[in-house]
Amino acid sequence: MRNYERDSYGEPRKVTCNQCGRVIVKQNGILREDVCCIQKKWGYFSKKDGEIHSFVLCEACYDRFIKGFQVPVTIETETELM
Ligand SMILES: [Zn+2]
Repeated sequence: MRNYERDSYGEPRKVTCNQCGRVIVKQNGILREDVCCIQKKWGYFSKKDGEIHSFVLCEACYDRFIKGFQVPVTIETETELM
């Protein structure tokens, strides 16, 4: 969900989960919980050629979303966390 309220660095002050509408606020420029941001630029052989779709899901909505997949998501473990 687009949000035009931005901080002094031009970054959004908050994000809203497109599925449930819950607002996740930033504190000191950092989201207080992680979210899943998806952006897709549709191309040839789609009915949306030239459109760019984007949405945000909170972790709970992401978990519900992927639970409906016939093939599970690929999960890898990051070897070096900073
Ligand atoms: Zn949500």
